[in-house]
Amino acid sequence: MDTTAASAPSSACAALLDAVQVAQGQGAEIRDPATGEVLGYAPQASTADLDAAVQRARAAQREWAQKSHEQRSEVLNRAADAIDAQASALAELLSREQGKPIANGPNAAFEVGACSAWTRATAAFPIEPEVIVDDDSGKAVMHWAPVGVVGAIGPWNWPMMISIWQIAPALRMGNAIVVKPSEQTPLSVLALAHVMNEVLPEGLLQVLAGDGELGRAFTSHDGIDKITFTGSVETGKAIMRGAADDLKRLTLELGGNDAGIVLEDADPQAIAEGLFWGAFINTGQTCAALKRLYVPDALYDQVCEALVDLAGKMPMGVGREEQNVLGPLQNRAQYDIVARLVEAARDGGGRVLIGGDPDEDQPGFFYPTTLVADLDNDNPLVAEEQFGPALPIIRYSDLDQAIEWANGLEVGLGASVWSSDPEMAREVAQRIEAGTVWINKHGAIDPRVPFGGVKQSGFGLEFGVEGLKHMAVPKVIAG
Ligand code: NAD
Repeated sequence: MDTTAASAPSSACAALLDAVQVAQGQGAEIRDPATGEVLGYAPQASTADLDAAVQRARAAQREWAQKSHEQRSEVLNRAADAIDAQASALAELLSREQGKPIANGPNAAFEVGACSAWTRATAAFPIEPEVIVDDDSGKAVMHWAPVGVVGAIGPWNWPMMISIWQIAPALRMGNAIVVKPSEQTPLSVLALAHVMNEVLPEGLLQVLAGDGELGRAFTSHDGIDKITFTGSVETGKAIMRGAADDLKRLTLELGGNDAGIVLEDADPQAIAEGLFWGAFINTGQTCAALKRLYVPDALYDQVCEALVDLAGKMPMGVGREEQNVLGPLQNRAQYDIVARLVEAARDGGGRVLIGGDPDEDQPGFFYPTTLVADLDNDNPLVAEEQFGPALPIIRYSDLDQAIEWANGLEVGLGASVWSSDPEMAREVAQRIEAGTVWINKHGAIDPRVPFGGVKQSGFGLEFGVEGLKHMAVPKVIAG
């Protein structure tokens, strides 16, 4: 692992940073998680700033709501052009703040590309009033009206992309949006909005950086009509409580602990790469990553060997170095969670196949790619969300038992089934409690396909036409 690369931001990245940051001493210090170097200083919004932002948003929204879908989509497409024009500076800033490598697969350049792609896709979805009844008794038509001012609160793992998932449908449906990014990655989201605001009408998209206290103020603010939140289950519950007083609309995309079940007829070599990236995308810091893998006796050793082989070949290091495909954990707290869970796995008799032995002297939060075999299903590394690069592989003898284990937790975001027989895999998928069950892949998202959780992974949908409807209020005109 090479963690030596310390280098100044490129001039384009520095210009973006300068456009959004404040002077030293006037904001929160943000450090590069790969090197520990100071990246910049994020402004910290007060509740008075929030009041003013909501007022501006309300004024902008009134005009925006009058525009047609075609007009709003045209503006969104221009915002996507603006993102594309600054793509490499945005990707560099994201890498320096979040830690993920710039290139090589689904990393920073991919995330920025997804921001413009999602914006364009969201601009293109058809959404028409729905004629529910049209007969002798009369006519009833369902329209999708703007909610008003949306407050968006986000996490630090995919800060730009997840913000776009909130921003693009909110704007498309005639709302204004005020975003509170994670205190860990505010500069990325401020920069993304700065670029989009080159073309958006003033006041429609605002970003206020701050911590959980500011998030709490969003949740209880009487000028915000809906909260769309992506983050942990615990914070989701706090938001739901805070939103109760004025019955704010909610979309809650919360944590998961996704199970993958390999069936006996799967080909270990053919599925190994999909399993690996299902688990280790973004160094495991992904809500719908594969977080516990169930493998039948007959294939257990082969699947473990194939994954160890791949894990040993994936360079981890500073994101700006070309060869790296994996980066650090984004913050110390997450590093400590992963380290604690791997220790708990060891204590519980788990066999560490690779990794599990971080170099504590390095400056960044690098935790090596780790695979742990022979764990009981109730070990903390299986039962808790690790949100990092440590995958438990659990042996099973009976498929019914594996399905019961997969369904045994309170969360249900994603899951996957791996088999050479898609029909059989689909039958197993029907029995799994999750918002999405993938077959022979894990975590593959598509702007057209609704995404959301069941159980304590939250409710409400994002993406596609269903996602647009969740950024609107249904309104029936009858007669
Ligand atoms: P987090 O819940 O700690 O923080 C998320 C956001 O909530 C931050 O912006 C934070 O400042 C804010 N916040 C904290 N306390 C608040 C409060 N009381 N009221 C309002 N806002 C508050 O989550 P995180 O650590 O940033 O993200 C990791 C978690 O997010 C993981 O559990 C992961 O699975 C989940 N996640 C889910 C999805 C999804 O789509 N379902 C996507 C990404 C991450």
